[in-house]
Amino acid sequence: MSAPGQREFFTVKTVSEALTGFRPELRTPVETIALAHALGRVPAEPITAPHALPGFARATVDGFAVRAADTYGASEGLPSYLDLIGEARMGQAPETEMRPGGAVAIATGAPLPPGADSVLKVEYTQSPTPELIEVLRPATPGEGMVRADEDAAPGAEIARPGRPLRAQDLGMLAAAGIAELPAYARPRVAIVSTGDELVPADAPGELPVGQVRDSSAPALAALVHEAGGQPDFAGIVPDDREALTATLRALVKGSDPFGRVVEGLSRGCDVLVVSAGSSVGARDETAAAIASLGEPGIWCHGLSLKPGKPTLLADVGGIPVIGLPGNPRSALVVFRLIGMPIVRMVGGCTEPPPEPSARARLTRDLPSAAGRLDVVQVRLAGEVAEPLFGSSSLLSILTAADGYLLVPEAATGLAAGSDVEVMLYR
Ligand code: AMP
Ligand code: MG
Repeated sequence: MSAPGQREFFTVKTVSEALTGFRPELRTPVETIALAHALGRVPAEPITAPHALPGFARATVDGFAVRAADTYGASEGLPSYLDLIGEARMGQAPETEMRPGGAVAIATGAPLPPGADSVLKVEYTQSPTPELIEVLRPATPGEGMVRADEDAAPGAEIARPGRPLRAQDLGMLAAAGIAELPAYARPRVAIVSTGDELVPADAPGELPVGQVRDSSAPALAALVHEAGGQPDFAGIVPDDREALTATLRALVKGSDPFGRVVEGLSRGCDVLVVSAGSSVGARDETAAAIASLGEPGIWCHGLSLKPGKPTLLADVGGIPVIGLPGNPRSALVVFRLIGMPIVRMVGGCTEPPPEPSARARLTRDLPSAAGRLDVVQVRLAGEVAEPLFGSSSLLSILTAADGYLLVPEAATGLAAGSDVEVMLYR
């Protein structure tokens, strides 16, 4: 029941509408970064191999470089005999040229002598005399080796634009001699907490009754990091429309509340996150403050999501502004579902890393309203998922959970025994 004079959510959207339809324009500038700092960074252009990789044909086993034709038909009963004509040295260009009937001793990683087309494992040979190799099994061309351009042909794409770089990508770039590359700057995500009851997260000791530590800001900062952004905690603002408006305006403009430019924020933040005050109660000032920031303004107020309905999304001159519910569990659910994709989008990421997940069997019925997405935290025990229930103010549900599952918008619930996909918290 609405209290007298209560405002209402006026533009409720579904989560899928928000994920596909809310697309402020801002992308961070492109900067040159060193390979050593490139983990998780998003290349702004295709990165191509300047030359073939590995660059020379290499052995992948310890044994003898041969011409496969010379070993045709060899068997333990009827071995072929090859002359040992040299040794391929690690780290050095080959000195020996292959000749028919010859074999060159070679270790894994050494360059094949010209004319060799395969490397026979040492296990498939015997050495009756120092100069002679007895071949017990035929080699096939290409066996025991990689070609000069097998890892990458010259000009081949070795890192895609829009996909965050992983450890293996850094390895490939290093192999190609790429020491620096163009990447989108990490989105600078300003985080503002609002509420008269809030005190800083580092306030010591047991707090006076009524006061609450700002637990959302550090947790949100961690999710910003995970999404490749740079969190910038802008402090706690009381439930006061003017104070909140002044703070938010300064953060999107890159100036302080008096209009002075703040060092390091000269272009304003790239994403603005405001937690709490986002509902429609008398003391909720976040919607009004965000609405006053600029055009095109509020895109949605209210998500068909549980927990997380009191969510605001706005576009302020291309800068995404996210108003999160105050309850910490709701705030973190919404930020993971909606906020992290926005941070990634602003940072040029078009191919987000897949979320780790596991299949499990649900232990009990989960009722849900049709048209609303439910996020349910679960504990995993083997292949069984036990839902955790409780108030959206309780962080302990999140800390006890191994992951969460989604009851889709169209479903009216999930039955006990259903096979579900659990998205895992890292
Ligand atoms: P609100 O959205 O302002 O109505 O806040 C809903 C609930 O979340 C209230 O109980 C607040 O005290 C709590 N809350 C709001 N912001 C935070 C925060 N940053 N950290 C912890 N709790 C918060
Ligand atoms: Mg509040």
